[in-house]
Amino acid sequence: MLNKNKSLILWISIIMLAVGFANMFKYSDSSNVRTVYFSEFVSSTERGLVSAVKLYGNHIYGDMKNGQKFLTIVPYQDKDLVSRLLSNKVHIQVSDVRENSLITWISIILSWLPSLLIIGMMMYSMKKMQGGPGKAVGFGKSKAKLVDFFNNKKVTFNDVAGSDEAKEELSEIVDFLKNKQKFSELGARIPKGVLLSGPPGTGKTLLARSVAGEANVPFFAVSGSDFIEMFAGVGASRVRDMFEQAKKQAPCIIFIDEIDALGAKRGSGLGGGYEEREQTLNQLLVEMDGFELNEGVIVLAATNRSGILDPALLRAGRFDRRVALSLPRLNEREQILKLHVKSIKFDEAISLSKIARGTPGFSGADLSNLINEAALLAGRRNKKIVSEEDLEEAKDKLLMGNKVKSKLTDAEKKLTAYHEAGHAIVALHSDNYYPIHKATIIPRGHALGVVVSLPEDDEMSVNKAKLLDQITVAMGGLAAEKIIFGEDYVTTGASSDIQKATDIARNMVSKWGMSSKIGYVNYTYSDDRYSSTSDDTYKNIDIAVRDIIDKCFATAYNLLSMHKDILHTLARKLIEVEEMSGDEIKQLLGMA
Ligand code: ADP
Repeated sequence: MLNKNKSLILWISIIMLAVGFANMFKYSDSSNVRTVYFSEFVSSTERGLVSAVKLYGNHIYGDMKNGQKFLTIVPYQDKDLVSRLLSNKVHIQVSDVRENSLITWISIILSWLPSLLIIGMMMYSMKKMQGGPGKAVGFGKSKAKLVDFFNNKKVTFNDVAGSDEAKEELSEIVDFLKNKQKFSELGARIPKGVLLSGPPGTGKTLLARSVAGEANVPFFAVSGSDFIEMFAGVGASRVRDMFEQAKKQAPCIIFIDEIDALGAKRGSGLGGGYEEREQTLNQLLVEMDGFELNEGVIVLAATNRSGILDPALLRAGRFDRRVALSLPRLNEREQILKLHVKSIKFDEAISLSKIARGTPGFSGADLSNLINEAALLAGRRNKKIVSEEDLEEAKDKLLMGNKVKSKLTDAEKKLTAYHEAGHAIVALHSDNYYPIHKATIIPRGHALGVVVSLPEDDEMSVNKAKLLDQITVAMGGLAAEKIIFGEDYVTTGASSDIQKATDIARNMVSKWGMSSKIGYVNYTYSDDRYSSTSDDTYKNIDIAVRDIIDKCFATAYNLLSMHKDILHTLARKLIEVEEMSGDEIKQLLGMA
């Protein structure tokens, strides 16, 4: 409705402006009208040069016979005027003087109209920029959207898989919202703000919505960046407006996503638009302080950079409750997958725990995306039901990119097959390495092939033996190339293996205290210019890193040299079938 009125006003203004300008031009046309002396008019009439006149009071507008228009003013009541005109056969038209004055007024108004409109518009936009309580049409209005109130599907804790600690923490907030009375009678202060922090896609928004759903209260959602505008004061006015709206609906929840966009440490130079952002943040603090106790508005805010938030935001009475979310662990991933497969038609025989094992580092959003990708793939293959194969394919696509269409040459294929077979055989012979899930020489993204292994569980800490095995397996590809093709024919294909091995070895030496020569000192902070680390130590770190990798390479090389026969067997099979599962590899090599 408001928008309709706005556009109506705009159109009326445009039409009036156009009329005004046309009028201006009409006036400029009046330059054709010559103002003449009364005496000249009289003589022209008598000489028969005037064809017609219009009488407006004491003004005479006339046409000469030669087409020239003129205007003259009658100085006094000339009684003979009309008879003189008639005798000279001048056509006479008389206008009512009142009508004349009305026309004059309209002309004056129209001539001023463009200027008035321009001034009006300038004042309007200045007011708009300022926002403030008397703000014009919505510029300083909050962009907070009321979600889930009537129409949207209600989200509850059942829609959030895993995150049990977070749910437990937030169920307290649900209790506050539901039984406000109970707490206020006891004189307890209901918390005003909860900060949800964690990596993107870990379900912060989902949890906030589920709190509103559980408590059955309205949910206002807004993003921190919605407050930031080019014009000073707009953000602050939006914050004010948002709280006004929310208080009318209390008890309710305001959810501010990406609060770091407006709540970064003041004076840190983060977030841009310094003055404006600071004003907006101050307004938010003022509003949070200004809640009447137990008013029933609870602000939930989400960020994935809680470290940069202004301490003022986090102090008691503001966002003093914090809920940290992390990437889901193995069993949580399985629960999330279980929840999301409900929305698709899928083969019940699929082992979701295996998919969960193969997706370390995936967030809830990634997992939901994985299920959707699999359903899309199945659709493209005209299947009625999503199978394990679709899920595997979707996972590989998300992890490694799409299959590359370009064909490998036979030589490249052979080399890749020996390289991957090298990794696989070293992995199968290591005591501390993870079970192999599959080996493939179908190129994806930048990788020509890959051996995928599945950790049995998420690891919070890894021991030295496992790290050494990881380096040894990484070296397996390069070692196989060297054994089969010779020193001079190893390729650049091992660069990511070398990178991985170097990273692990360097951390072992300079961070995790796993080198007896370097000791239990953390040298990873010693890159700054105030570092007290001596050149000798740097040199020793380099030697120790090199030492670890050389030893692991030798292990892989010796192992593959000893098992050259199975290296050939596996590589040849890979060239033939291009992709093999862990079980198929073990069977082929008689290791099942
Ligand atoms: P964030 O706000 O932390 O970036 P969202 O709450 O927007 O993440 O999560 C995006 C989507 O990921 C959700 O809509 C949901 O489908 C899925 N998701 C994330 N975490 C979970 C979870 N714990 N359980 C179920 N689904 C989840």
